[in-house]
Amino acid sequence: MSPLKVAIIGAGLGGLATALALRKQGIDAQIYEKAQNLLPVGAGLTLLPNGLKSLDAITPGIVESLKEAGSQAHRVNLKKSIGETIAQNNLSLQDNYGQPMLNIRWSRLQEMLVSYLPLDIIHLNHRCVNFEYLEDGVKIYFENDTTVKADLLIGADGINSVVRQVIVGDGSPRYAGRMSWRAVVEYGNEQLLDNESTFILGSNGKNFSFIDVGSGYIFWSAAALLLDESTSPSPTEVKSRVLEVFADWTEPVQSIVQTTPAIKIVERPIYDRPPLENWSKGRVTLLGDAAHPVVPVLGQGANMAFEDAWELGLYLQRSPNIEEALANYENSRIKRTQIIQARSAFQGSRSYDTDSDQFLGGIMEQAKMSQAEFDDWVYNYEPSMM
Ligand SMILES: Cc1cc2nc3c(=O)[nH]c(=O)nc-3n(C[C@H](O)[C@H](O)[C@H](O)COP(=O)(O)OP(=O)(O)OC[C@H]3O[C@@H](n4cnc5c(N)ncnc54)[C@H](O)[C@@H]3O)c2cc1C
Repeated sequence: MSPLKVAIIGAGLGGLATALALRKQGIDAQIYEKAQNLLPVGAGLTLLPNGLKSLDAITPGIVESLKEAGSQAHRVNLKKSIGETIAQNNLSLQDNYGQPMLNIRWSRLQEMLVSYLPLDIIHLNHRCVNFEYLEDGVKIYFENDTTVKADLLIGADGINSVVRQVIVGDGSPRYAGRMSWRAVVEYGNEQLLDNESTFILGSNGKNFSFIDVGSGYIFWSAAALLLDESTSPSPTEVKSRVLEVFADWTEPVQSIVQTTPAIKIVERPIYDRPPLENWSKGRVTLLGDAAHPVVPVLGQGANMAFEDAWELGLYLQRSPNIEEALANYENSRIKRTQIIQARSAFQGSRSYDTDSDQFLGGIMEQAKMSQAEFDDWVYNYEPSMM
């Protein structure tokens, strides 16, 4: 029998991890990506025990390589915008949950995931524009006038997912009232010690963090609650805006931004979507941000995508047919991701006008949990084995 043929739309972190998870099961997984090249994103990422355990289940040994490329956070400093230290927490995630908090450049993580895949399965310059259901699969249409037939289609095409629009049709994502700025830079400063992260908090939801991401780089990330979602017209104006929003903040905030080349600063309004009760239809499903985008306050977006990837591979291997595999995947993923969506919305000062009983149940459940209980629940995730 020929192997199952799966088309994954999107070569983001979710799509790449899914290709790895499926190919491990002997599935012929192919990725279709709209970009001309896999360009590095100017960002750093925090990987947490649940995501790292999933990645290690997908590709044993990858986490050891990621640890060498990134930085394992041993201490988190919390400060006020005037410089006063509120807390210094030594982290014991490795001891408590079997994996650390690992900070890494997005581009290194992407390179590492790609390095475990055959290059000819990533089809660049393939923007998916539509698909249709066939009796025994799916036919996918691309902007470059090509079509592909597959037994299963996975939309890993991010928050503006085209696949989601065909199966759910819920329109554009919603601005979460928050603007973000970020950059990865080489930076030497005695205020940032190796393997540390510093979070500085101010009024109006303003925050600025700088994080050691290994190999002599830091990732800085800033956010503020802003009603206006419009972005600045040029890199120079982006930089001036950050300096203005964080004027009078304690050092090294101003010096970090001052020494960052304007072109490296990414300004991005934050969007999210209310949770879904179902995200599969026929032989088509969603994964990662296409399924459950969140306001990035808990650092769980990519970590959840890695859990999705592992479980989708698992259910495709275990279930008698694709339809049952997708039903099992949804049953397992939706409640957990709804709770994380609810908690992220709550901590991101965001309320949803959703009347979903399941989602509201999720809110009630998470509202009862302390931060420590919530962390235990998220990080104790164990990818079940074949
Ligand atoms: C400021 C910020 C900080 C964050 N920090 C963290 C963190 O510390 N930890 C964490 O776990 N998460 C974090 N996240 C979230 C994380 O980045 C996302 O959850 C994760 O990248 C989602 O991966 P994905 O593959 O689902 O989607 P994406 O990364 O959006 O990838 C989607 C891919 O699909 C492609 N695509 C889109 N449309 C099409 C189409 N029609 N046809 C073909 N290809 C298409 C895109 O080009 C892209 O390559 C953060 C997010 C933000 C904004």
